[in-house]
Amino acid sequence: MQGTASVERAETAGNPWNAAVMSGFTRDTKRYGDKLVYEALGSKWRRYHDAHCRCGLNWVTEHAEPAGFTVVRSGTGWVALTGPGLTEDVDESALTTDALWEAVTGKPGAGRAEAVRVVERSDAVAGDRAATGAGGAQRCERHPEAEPGPVTDKQLKYLSTLVGKVGRERFDTAFDAVVQGTGVAPRGDGERTGQALRRLTRATARKLITVLAGP
Ligand SMILES: [Zn+2]
Repeated sequence: MQGTASVERAETAGNPWNAAVMSGFTRDTKRYGDKLVYEALGSKWRRYHDAHCRCGLNWVTEHAEPAGFTVVRSGTGWVALTGPGLTEDVDESALTTDALWEAVTGKPGAGRAEAVRVVERSDAVAGDRAATGAGGAQRCERHPEAEPGPVTDKQLKYLSTLVGKVGRERFDTAFDAVVQGTGVAPRGDGERTGQALRRLTRATARKLITVLAGP
């Protein structure tokens, strides 16, 4: 992945609202409670998406969310995300944005480790109280595994795109691997791809997207 810290600084320099926002892993008790998040600068990730995917759609709603990432907060030109492989189930001493990069660009990440930025605010104590009392960011997070619903339209759309990219053979293999032990039957003989996709649950679709969007 490109290392563009200097470019980010240039982008945010003239904009007082974004002055404090750069892409990065962040701990900020006032904003996010005890949750580790990845704050993504929209202009930077849009550029990555435009350069590699070129689908012209919104990278957050069409790629990041269907792939299992959750928007916990957003502001002018930035969005804070959590998700497996990004801020969950990760080694905090070797954080990378590869999982998000792969979902957004469809290409393997470079494995470049990033540090966590800890934001200390003068009113952090009041923030702590607000986070636990009034429901911090952690309450808003959706847990994919706890959502037994059917595959969503967005997931179907994105999976159809991915099938076209990776080819039927890889798709069939990934489909059978992902549904194993989930109650969703493997690919049937002569079953059309669209039919198979519609049999997925929201959770299995998410897993399949992660597998197919990866390297
Ligand atoms: Zn795209």
